[in-house]
Amino acid sequence: MQIYFSIATFLLGLIVGSFLNCVIYRMEEGKSFLKGRSFCPYCKHELSWRDLIPIFSFLLLRRKCRYCKKPISWQYPLVELGTGILFVLGLLFVFNSGIWDFICYLLVSSFFVLIFVFDLKHYIIPDRLVWPAILIAFLYQWNLYQWNFLEMKNLALGVLPAFFILAIIIVSRGKWMGLGDFSLTILMGLFLGFPKILVALFFAFFLGAIIGISLMIFKGKTLKSEIPFGPFLITATFISFFWGQQIINGYLRFLFNP
Ligand SMILES: [Zn+2]
Repeated sequence: MQIYFSIATFLLGLIVGSFLNCVIYRMEEGKSFLKGRSFCPYCKHELSWRDLIPIFSFLLLRRKCRYCKKPISWQYPLVELGTGILFVLGLLFVFNSGIWDFICYLLVSSFFVLIFVFDLKHYIIPDRLVWPAILIAFLYQWNLYQWNFLEMKNLALGVLPAFFILAIIIVSRGKWMGLGDFSLTILMGLFLGFPKILVALFFAFFLGAIIGISLMIFKGKTLKSEIPFGPFLITATFISFFWGQQIINGYLRFLFNP
């Protein structure tokens, strides 16, 4: 039974991923993403259903538009696949705590995918992606805490590290990170709570340092080159969301049982 649920959830993730690609494209073009049909970004030819099957169309068409033969961006299959994998992880890790939690997780992770791609491509974290996700993450946590306001101190603690990011932004005058990273860290804090937010920030800086240094060595980037931090924050968020508690336990064992 589990396997059928996993396949269905993965397929749902592929379809949502395909929709997210469409949202990204229409945000880039400044269009409404609720109306209109899909078309090739180069030749503007309207796409039929057989051009729009997640992953499969990309593979069958061998990365080329059926009509103008221009290459299709890797973004399309990768976003679909990534969303599919995040949805299945949600099924395995979140579904047990209730359908409401699962739905909130699917919604927030979809927003994380959008922010990831948008920041990677345009070095911008749009507020209109972060704030709806903050609202959903807040409702998610509020439900976890059984709608008990007094139990929510972990949530307040979770948001606190965002002000550390704000301090870095102020000290660096926005050169290392932008205000978008601040709102993204608030979202992470609400989604992860305390202490998982600390694990996430640790991994984000760790991954950022490793990839930043590799880019400098292999791609000739300099310290002044702009590298978006959002993708690191979001990757680290999911690592911490799923495995944060094990990482904390392992670290504490390491500290206290030498
Ligand atoms: Zn085309």
